[in-house]
Amino acid sequence: MQDKKRGAMRNPEIKVVGGGIAGLMTAISLARRGAKVELIDRWEPGHARASSSDYNRVIRAIHGRDHFYTKWARDARLRWLELEEETGAKLYYECGALILATEGHCDWEDNTCETFTELGVPHQLYQPQDITTFFPQFDASDISYGIYEPEAGMIMAHRALIAGVALFKRLGGTLRRGRVTTDADEHPMLDGKRLEADLIVIATGPWMADMFPRTVKPLSTIVGVNVLYHSTPDGSDLFDQERMPCWIDHGQGSFGLPSVEGSGVKAAVVIPDKIDLDNDERLIKQKMLSRTRQYIDKRLPGLTGERVVDSKFNQIILTPDTHFIIDFHPQHDNVLLAGGCSGHLFKHGPVFGEFAAGVAMRDFGTPGRFKLGARRKLSPAESPSGR
Ligand SMILES: Cc1cc2nc3c(=O)[nH]c(=O)nc-3n(C[C@H](O)[C@H](O)[C@H](O)COP(=O)(O)OP(=O)(O)OC[C@H]3O[C@@H](n4cnc5c(N)ncnc54)[C@H](O)[C@@H]3O)c2cc1C
Repeated sequence: MQDKKRGAMRNPEIKVVGGGIAGLMTAISLARRGAKVELIDRWEPGHARASSSDYNRVIRAIHGRDHFYTKWARDARLRWLELEEETGAKLYYECGALILATEGHCDWEDNTCETFTELGVPHQLYQPQDITTFFPQFDASDISYGIYEPEAGMIMAHRALIAGVALFKRLGGTLRRGRVTTDADEHPMLDGKRLEADLIVIATGPWMADMFPRTVKPLSTIVGVNVLYHSTPDGSDLFDQERMPCWIDHGQGSFGLPSVEGSGVKAAVVIPDKIDLDNDERLIKQKMLSRTRQYIDKRLPGLTGERVVDSKFNQIILTPDTHFIIDFHPQHDNVLLAGGCSGHLFKHGPVFGEFAAGVAMRDFGTPGRFKLGARRKLSPAESPSGR
């Protein structure tokens, strides 16, 4: 059944392991191509431990000097709009995104400006006084300038997963519950036997590192992130997505999303935290609550005194250069590894899935940036994610 020229195979049998956004979108793309696809996950897709499971995720083209992901993000926006139509589910709110370039922390933002100009991505440059005029939610006193991207916004992440699973089933895909492990050769195993298929796609997100201790672990750092949702002021719609954009505030290590569908304002201060993927209680830490409150008091003073109404403790798998992984396992030529999210994969989901399906079916090879093997650590100014 195995064939190096998978492009020549008709109706291959494919197992995709991992029902987060990376696995699901790859499974959908493969099913659209007529493959018989089984999607295997330890838990029900949409479960709270997965990186993809929060209510919403930012979609924006802001990627520093990296043209590749900037184009992917632009393309992904259109794909999300198409998916919205195809699934009939509300998946996308185009509320815009604002990058705040803080004094002394402008390299990545300067690079983003150049990229936007070169690629014709719609954007506006705001002086601090413009920011407070257009978006009075923000204190811009330490801001050098802002880049506003109007065609950015948020994807309703959890809903997108649930709608995506229904679409996958409509396309003939099947779901299976099971925990895939690996043997000493890092070959995938299920129920004590080697997993057999024409093609196996492993998209187990942060769990991929422990599953592939030789191949993926050396490339990976797993980071826990606490996210808090704050109530909006009584009687005011100032912090709703109709009036407030998503924002990225790398100088403060922070980002956030306005309130949507009553969620409250979501804010995260990314201070790398340890996380035990299977055993930790998914509760936020007191020190992160204090740190996020401090941030909110400074940047969003209109929310001072508001209460935390919801929270998530979740994780990302970071590669040294924050590029994704889409590559065949060095010993198993029918096992494709797809993930390495580095905190910015969700938005790209549909494009990532199509691309991973293309590599899987050998339409094209793995570009250098997605290859397994040694990678160079990039500085935040150089990296596509700004991390
Ligand atoms: C706080 C936070 C904020 C973020 N914000 C953004 C954002 O604004 N925009 C953006 O684009 N991205 C954002 N990201 C990143 C984005 O959420 C991730 O890149 C993306 O969700 C990763 O998806 P995934 O499918 O690779 O992993 P996951 O969603 O974790 O999915 C992996 C799946 O594999 C399953 N699995 C694991 N092990 C096994 C096994 N052994 N057998 C079977 N199944 C298994 C799991 O159960 C899980 O369902 C953020 C991430 C975090 C944590």
